[in-house]
Amino acid sequence: MSNIPKLFNALLLDMESFCQSCGRPFTYDPKRSGSENVVKYCSKKCRREKRDKKESFLEEEILNLLMSRDHDKTICPSEVARLLYPDDFKNYMEDIRCAGRRLVLKEKITITQKGREVDTLNFKGPIRFKLK
Ligand SMILES: [Zn+2]
Repeated sequence: MSNIPKLFNALLLDMESFCQSCGRPFTYDPKRSGSENVVKYCSKKCRREKRDKKESFLEEEILNLLMSRDHDKTICPSEVARLLYPDDFKNYMEDIRCAGRRLVLKEKITITQKGREVDTLNFKGPIRFKLK
């Protein structure tokens, strides 16, 4: 049984991973270290910030707002930001987008642009969230 974690790690080395903090895809570099954190987070910044732990309530807020609408309706990330931080919502937009990406990884929502689901998490430009 002791071989299984090693095997699992070897499999991860060749895989593209998704950052648990910002939800962006990244390629795991086996040379950097054998640390588990390297696999979980895309950068030192994300490892330090650990948004997934600190900001999980944002995921709830996104889902709550989506569930208060009709199922096929989309919401703009700024709607969530304005709701939570009416005075300085712009400062929180990236937090909301990161929470949105994490929800995509959890298969709770999809991210759309111009009504179409974006096939990569590396989107550019305005996005909307939609319940899956
Ligand atoms: Zn990240």
